[in-house]
Amino acid sequence: KFIFKNVAKLPSDALFAIKGRLAVDPRTNKVDLGIGAYRDNTGKPWILPSVRKAEQIVQADPNYNHEYLNISGLESLRKNAARIIFGDSFDIANRVVNIQSLSGTGALHVGATLMESLKLNERDVYFSDPTWGNHLQIFAKCGFNSIKSYPYWDAASKKLNLDGFLNTIKEATSGSVFVLHPCAHNPTGLDPTEEQWKVILESIKEKQHVVLFDSAYQGFATGSLAKDAYSIRLAITDILKDVPVMVCQSFAKNVGMYGERVGCFHVVLPESGYNAEEGSAIQSQLEAITRSELSTPPAYGAKIVSAILSSDELYKAWSDDMVTMSSRIYEMRHKLVAKLTELKTPGNWDHITSQVGMFSYTGLSKEQVARMEKEHAVYLASSGRASIAGLNDGNVEHVGYAIDEVVR
Ligand code: PLP
Repeated sequence: KFIFKNVAKLPSDALFAIKGRLAVDPRTNKVDLGIGAYRDNTGKPWILPSVRKAEQIVQADPNYNHEYLNISGLESLRKNAARIIFGDSFDIANRVVNIQSLSGTGALHVGATLMESLKLNERDVYFSDPTWGNHLQIFAKCGFNSIKSYPYWDAASKKLNLDGFLNTIKEATSGSVFVLHPCAHNPTGLDPTEEQWKVILESIKEKQHVVLFDSAYQGFATGSLAKDAYSIRLAITDILKDVPVMVCQSFAKNVGMYGERVGCFHVVLPESGYNAEEGSAIQSQLEAITRSELSTPPAYGAKIVSAILSSDELYKAWSDDMVTMSSRIYEMRHKLVAKLTELKTPGNWDHITSQVGMFSYTGLSKEQVARMEKEHAVYLASSGRASIAGLNDGNVEHVGYAIDEVVR
C-alpha cells in the first residue's frame, strides 16, 4: 500500500519561489532584491576577506580534521559567540548556558523546542507584525497553538507603532512569550530607538513576559557589534537582569557564511536566584534536543567563525568587513532615494534611508511588486520588502526607474 497517497501538496516557500522565477528569467537586466544575502557591488556573493584568512589558518593547522564536535558544539565558538553578543564585561561563565545551533533557524528551533518540553508552548507567543515568516512555522511546529502579533510597522507613517506595541504588551496575559528582533528588523529595516527599547523592555518586565531575542543581523544595522546588541545588553544587564532571557544568534549574515549554518542558542540566567544545578539542568535539556535532531552540530563553519573570534587580527579584519557591508548598503539606500528624487517620483521615500540593515520595507503594494517583476525584471517580496544588498552601481538606476513607473 502506498502510504503517502493523500499527502497534501504545500505551497512552495515564497522567497525561494522568487529565486526560482528569477533563475529562469532571460532578461539580462534582472535584479534580485529577494532573499536577504549580501552581494558586492558587482552583484556577486562576497566571501569576506577575514573568512578567507581564517579558512587558510584553520586548514593549515596540523591537527585539522573532520571529526565530530561535541553535542553542544565547538567550545571556543560558544564562548566567543557569547562574548560578542553579551559584551566583554558580561559574566558569561556564571550567567550563560548555550549550545551551538544550525544557524539562526536552528537556534530558534532549539528555543521553541526547549519551551515545548517545559510546556511554555501553552502560553501565547507574540511576534512583530510583520515578522520573518519562518518564525510562525517554527513555533507552530513546536506546538505553540496561540501565535499572536504585536503592532510594529505603521503603514501610514512608515514608523514604529510604539503605542500599539506597548498596548499589546500591557494587554497580553502575564508571562506570555515575546520574540523580539534586537536590530535590523526583518522585514521592515525599522528598529526602535534606545529610548524606545527602554520603554518596551520596562513594560515587558512589568507584565513578567518571557523574552526571546532573535539576533540574525548583529553588525548589519550599524556596522558595530556593540551598538547592534544594545537592546540585548540593556535587557540582561539592567531591565531584565532578574529573569532568564533567551537569545538566538546567527552568523549567516555577519560572517557571510549563509550555507555553513553557524549559530548559537543562549539562555542568559538571572543575576541571582538560581543555582548552578539549575543551570546545568538547562544545559542538559539543550544537549538532549540537539542529540536527537543533529546528533552533533556542523563543524566546518564553526571552526572558521571561532578562528575569527579568537584572534585579535582576524577579529579586527572581520569588524572592517562588517563596516564594508553595512556602508555599501547605506550608500545604496541613498543612491536609490537620490534617483527617486531626481525622477520626482510621487510620494515620500525618506524611510528607505532611515531604515537600517539588509532590508527596506518600501511601501510598494502587492500589485506594484508584481508589476516590478513583470515589466522591469526587478524581483522582491510581495510584501514590498526589498533586500537592499541586491542593489549596486550597475542596477540602482534601473530599480529607481522601475519604482517610479509602477507608482505613477
Ligand atoms: N531570524 C531572522 C529575523 C531572519 O531574518 C533570519 C534569516 O533570514 C533568521 C532568523 C535565520 O537565518 P539563518 O538560519 O540563515 O541563520
